[in-house]
Amino acid sequence: MTKPATSPQATVLGNALRSINGRMTTELVQVPGDFGLGQVPSRLAPDATTTSVCGFCSTGCGLKIHLKDGQAVNLSPETDYPVNLGMACPKGWEALTPLAAPDRATTPLFRGADGVLRPVEWETAIGAFCDRFKNIQTEHGAHSVAWIGTGQICVEEFAFLGALGKFGMGMKHGDGNTRQCMATAAVAYMESFGFDAPPFTYADFEQSDVLVFIGANPCIAHPIMWQRVLRNPNKPEIIVVDPRRTETAVNATQHLPLKPKSDLTLLYGLAHLIIENGWIDEGFIAESTTGFDEFREFVHRFTPDKVAAETNLTVGQIYHCAESIHRGKAVSFWWTMGVNQSHEATRTAQAIINLALMTGNIGRPGTGANSITGQCNAMGSRLFSNTTNLLGGHDFKNPVHRAKVAGVLGIDERLIPHEASWAYDQIMDGIDRGEIKGLWIIATNTAHSWINQNSVPDLFKKLDFLVVQDMYATTETAQLADLVLPAGGWGEKEGTLINSERRFGPVKKVSRAPGQALSDFNIFRLIAHAWGCGEMFREWTSPEAVFRIVQQITAGQPCDITGIEGYQMLDECGGVQWPWPAKPYGAMESRREGALGTDRSRNPELQNSVPEQERRLFADGKFFTPDGRARFVYEEPRPVAEPTSPAYPFVLLTGRGTSAQWHTNSRTAKSAILRQLYPANAYVEINPEDAARLGIEPNSRVEVSSPRGRIVATAFVTGTVQPGQIFMPMHYAETNKLTHPAFDPYSRQPSYKHCAVNLKPA
Ligand code: SF4
Repeated sequence: MTKPATSPQATVLGNALRSINGRMTTELVQVPGDFGLGQVPSRLAPDATTTSVCGFCSTGCGLKIHLKDGQAVNLSPETDYPVNLGMACPKGWEALTPLAAPDRATTPLFRGADGVLRPVEWETAIGAFCDRFKNIQTEHGAHSVAWIGTGQICVEEFAFLGALGKFGMGMKHGDGNTRQCMATAAVAYMESFGFDAPPFTYADFEQSDVLVFIGANPCIAHPIMWQRVLRNPNKPEIIVVDPRRTETAVNATQHLPLKPKSDLTLLYGLAHLIIENGWIDEGFIAESTTGFDEFREFVHRFTPDKVAAETNLTVGQIYHCAESIHRGKAVSFWWTMGVNQSHEATRTAQAIINLALMTGNIGRPGTGANSITGQCNAMGSRLFSNTTNLLGGHDFKNPVHRAKVAGVLGIDERLIPHEASWAYDQIMDGIDRGEIKGLWIIATNTAHSWINQNSVPDLFKKLDFLVVQDMYATTETAQLADLVLPAGGWGEKEGTLINSERRFGPVKKVSRAPGQALSDFNIFRLIAHAWGCGEMFREWTSPEAVFRIVQQITAGQPCDITGIEGYQMLDECGGVQWPWPAKPYGAMESRREGALGTDRSRNPELQNSVPEQERRLFADGKFFTPDGRARFVYEEPRPVAEPTSPAYPFVLLTGRGTSAQWHTNSRTAKSAILRQLYPANAYVEINPEDAARLGIEPNSRVEVSSPRGRIVATAFVTGTVQPGQIFMPMHYAETNKLTHPAFDPYSRQPSYKHCAVNLKPA
């Protein structure tokens, strides 16, 4: 290994690190607190069984982890957890397997002058991190170093990263890979409701009599949510709006296979029909919304004939859908990436919100305009990563908010920037312009998942220093790094995750991180200390200590969680949805009664009632805007960024492949069981008409090209896609060699779902 640096900073850090590893005595510890490396927390007995929420998707299932001699040996779905009720998808069952992968990063790796990544001691790694980034800041300004984060680490880690990056290290720009999945929902809710507030609870899946899924395929993308739909006793109408005949569409009662990216036009057309027929909730509109008259005027021209022509649907299909929404007593609207990843994503999400508002389908059981989140802690990133909003859903531009956060943290208010960060794509553009010279990537795989993937290696060559903090040194992005910091994964640390229905759930440390890998939390602590801002974080000694700080920051916010009495309460209550403020509730016991009182698992007589444990927002018709009213927000639909052409006559759709795959496969590919459940190589779904016309045989090799690149994949000839359209799962590195870097102007979310390509036999 490379010898450690001998600066005073490195010496102090070295003492701390050796202490972390249990090889030095406690009097040498100069970073306070218990790092707990390699040890199961003492509150778990060596042979305990404990509940931890899953670290893959945003469903947030409870998993019962079985330990032997302090190490997790197996797991099973938690039957009492209110989210999954004893169910888990293949990824959840295999959640422990990626921890034991042979390609785990077990030591820091530093790229030498010969271009080879080699193991180094932590002292060298953290010393290089600080020295290189500080030199860049000295030469190019404090804002020339940025970070790209994730939706996969814990709330406490987000808070630490955000505070360290902006208040401790002086960065201005940091964003998350949640920009790629949830930025649209966050902006849409913010503008329409006054806060990024998904209103629903999972019980709504079971209580609707009409469920409308727009650009969502929960059958495979959120399979446990789909199981909740299947438990619905109302024989509900299930309407799927999607160009593909997805697994969910096959199981729907109505499928609207619209032209790709004509969803905004369809939603305005549905609004027009509902208004024209008098199917609106005038009382709710009058009491709880603003802007309806202008909206009514705006959608007047979206006549059924016009909408049918522009969506490739029939007038009958559109009318049937509108009438079904009208007939429903409890209608819920659900959307996910088919909406969020669009060139006009925010307005499309708001067109869904408008439908819920005008029909009064919000705040009641079985209703809502409901964004289903992607990653396990996308909501944690949205509220607590200090990127687009100040910690706890505050506003960087608001001096009262800055003063409040500074007061809670005990820092100089002048350390808080007065505006939000650049978005992910703007950071990438900043690299291209030479304004960002240092980049720190945490738990994401940019070189695979970025929409303009082909540009990434050349962009990163423009950096003076690239740090990747990850479980694996083998990801496409880690392979480009100058420095790799080995991180513990889910199961090797503790903290909390927030799921799609706003539920804080506990994550437990049930396994040792391999080698010298540290939790992200402890890596942040070491960096804070070595950077020279450790004093700012002297009370950030453990995830639970940070959780309490985070609670204080949320006081008075819509996401107020001051009433949660520590991690133990999360365990006892099956997680707690925000808000859970201290003030409106009485003594601790009554609060617990509130959370547990109608728990279905404890009271079988209440099987069909609404459990208090399942709480939704806006039951009182009051929203988080200054006047308490929700807003109708709308805009003229715009053409797609890259229409088809004679050279590129096909539309490429992308999305989730199977329930056994997760994003760039960096974890799911570690499981032999999961690998059996999806094709090993990239494939492309092709309509039989197109295949016959082009002479493409099933399972033959085909070439797909776009103006960005050319790839070869296996032909999957299937009627799930319409003629003129093809589909590729996003999990294969080939897919984003083709996608077009267009962005929604409001959320800056990439438009992964539509670009023009050509197709021919390979
Ligand atoms: Fe985990 Fe999501 Fe599967 Fe539940 S549905 S087990 S949270 S991956």
